[in-house]
Amino acid sequence: MKDLQCDFCGDLHPIFSWECCDAVFEVYDYVTGKMHIHRSEGNWVACGKCHQFILCEDRTGLANRSAQEYLQISETSHKNLDLIFAMMFAYQTIFWNGKSGEYYPVIFDLDEGRGN
Ligand SMILES: [Zn+2]
Repeated sequence: MKDLQCDFCGDLHPIFSWECCDAVFEVYDYVTGKMHIHRSEGNWVACGKCHQFILCEDRTGLANRSAQEYLQISETSHKNLDLIFAMMFAYQTIFWNGKSGEYYPVIFDLDEGRGN
């Protein structure tokens, strides 16, 4: 079984996979100070807590959680929560714009990848 991480906060136990269309987008990375091209392909997986934020359509709450977790687990010396929040919010816009509203338990997503 491959190791999955929550696409929002980095939690190691995502439980739901949200359908999302593929997209390419640019986000300003406050840590490196550069624009970065991100390619989003397929579903985004969410842990239980992030899943609740998504169900409530709480974009601010979700980005805030992501920023807090990011500051805890990353090695960065960049500790400006407001800037990290802005980066997470921008990054997650692609999810909010692309999601279909359908989600599944993560186990089904893993089954799809069998035979790789
Ligand atoms: Zn999460």
